[in-house]
Amino acid sequence: MADTLKGNKLRGGVRPSRKFGEGRVCADQNCNTFLSQYNRREHCFAHAPVRFPRVRGRVVAEST
Ligand SMILES: [Zn+2]
Repeated sequence: MADTLKGNKLRGGVRPSRKFGEGRVCADQNCNTFLSQYNRREHCFAHAPVRFPRVRGRVVAEST
């Protein structure tokens, strides 16, 4: 057994960060918000379609 600990060299080059195009605008027609080139969505934060994940529990019947 050697006294030194050997490691493996890191493989692969450094990948460039993803870009989705510069100067893109929110897909909403009335919105001119520019999107980050690192944001892959088509809408700005305000117009992004909201999806609520399924929530546990049961629906309580409304009582008036
Ligand atoms: Zn927008």
